[in-house]
This record gives sequence, structure tokens and C-alpha cells, in this order.
Amino acid sequence: MIIVLVGPPGAGKGTHGRRISAKRNLPHVSSGDLLRDAVERGTPLGLEAAEYMKAGNLVPDSIMLSWVEELLDKPDYVNGLVLDGFPRTVPQAEGLDELLARRGLAVDAVLHFDIDEKAAVRRLGSRVSCSRCGVVYNLISNPPDDPEVCGRCGGKLEVRDDDRVDTIRARFEEFRRLTEPMLEYYRSRGKVSVISTEGAIESVGSRVTAVLDGLRDRGDSESVAP
Ligand code: AMP
Repeated sequence: MIIVLVGPPGAGKGTHGRRISAKRNLPHVSSGDLLRDAVERGTPLGLEAAEYMKAGNLVPDSIMLSWVEELLDKPDYVNGLVLDGFPRTVPQAEGLDELLARRGLAVDAVLHFDIDEKAAVRRLGSRVSCSRCGVVYNLISNPPDDPEVCGRCGGKLEVRDDDRVDTIRARFEEFRRLTEPMLEYYRSRGKVSVISTEGAIESVGSRVTAVLDGLRDRGDSESVAP
């Protein structure tokens, strides 16, 4: 099964991607995490991607499509995967469809994690992460004992650049400009299920489960209410 997760920052794609991955026994592939790792290790992909990422821009579609082509040829993904953060543009979605079609495969479901900008700012604005071990806390729902010190390793807690309000607003703008049209591409093919991200993680998780469990019996795009 090939599941694509789509959503603006703060929608919880990463959290639910990991949950779907554990529950369905499918590898979770986050393009952002893999790119950051490639940059850190200085691989050829990392060297190419670094300048775009540092400038806060999307990595060009051609680079992303070469990356996913290589990925799809790995034996780890023969049973499917949960794609988180890729595709993000219409050319990426078209390219992915083409690569899958050549392998006799297709995207089974596109889950659109819906959140409005104000709610995302509220959610991400209360997030801090450890500069040493990377663990993430939420000052409201999962607070550290000391708001400045990591309870796990003693590292300094800080707000990630990605979580600053102006960055969140810019990423929403990018989502509207480039990713909304991609959702339309998948919607016209009957692949999109909208997941409301209101409420607790468990409630959102139940909506995801309902959509994925019902996938075979259902046809076109639909919305699962909170
Ligand atoms: P993320 O953690 O998903 O926000 O991704 C971090 C950064 O990686 C983005 O700001 C982009 O520069 C790059 N990136 C991740 N996924 C993609 C993609 N599908 N297309 C282009 N750039 C991407």
C-alpha cells in the first residue's frame, strides 16, 4: 500500500506518519528528515539540496524525482510505504505517478491533514526541541520539567527555526501556492481523504484508521468529521 501524507506545517503529518507506519507495518519515509540527514552526511544529494534548504526554498522537482526513483528501487519498499512530505507539487505528483506506473504500482491513498494557519501557529509556537538530542516537547501538552533544559540529556531547549511565526506563515503561503494544486490533481483522481486535525492525537488517529480501514470499500474523496 502506498500512502501519501499531505499537510501544512503543524498538521501532525510526522506524528501520524509514524503511527500509521507502526500499525500497518509500512516504512515511514519523511523527505524532510532524509534530506536533512543527507545534508548532514554531505552525500551528493545533500550537497545539491543544501543551498535550497538553507534559503528556505523547496528543492527542485528534478532532484526530488531522482531521489524518489532511487528510493522506489530499494527492496525495503516493495510492500509499500508511507510518504510524508513528498510529493509537494503537481510535477512531483505527476512524476511519482509515472515512476509507479512503470512498476505496475499506484498511490492508494492521499491523506490531507487539514489545519488552519492560526491553529498551526498556536500549536507550533508552543513547541521546543533539544539542541543536543532533538527530542521535541510541547510547552502545553507535553511540558519539560524545566522549560529551558532537556529532561532526557540536559541539552538546551530551543524553538526550531521552522517553528518561528514568520517561517510558519511563509510555509503556509508555499503550501497554498504549490501543494493545494497538487491536492486538486489527486482529488480529481478520487484519491484524497481529508482528515480533520482538531482534538487530541488519539482522536485524529482514529479518523486516520477509519479512512484507511474503509479504503477498499470506498470510492471517491471524502471527509471525516471530527
Ligand atoms: P520538511 O521537514 O518536510 O518541512 O522539509 C524540510 C525542507 O526539505 C523543506 O523546506 C524543503 O527545502 C525540503 N523538502 C522536503 N520535502 C521536499 C519536497 N517534496 N520537495 C522539495 N523540497 C522538499
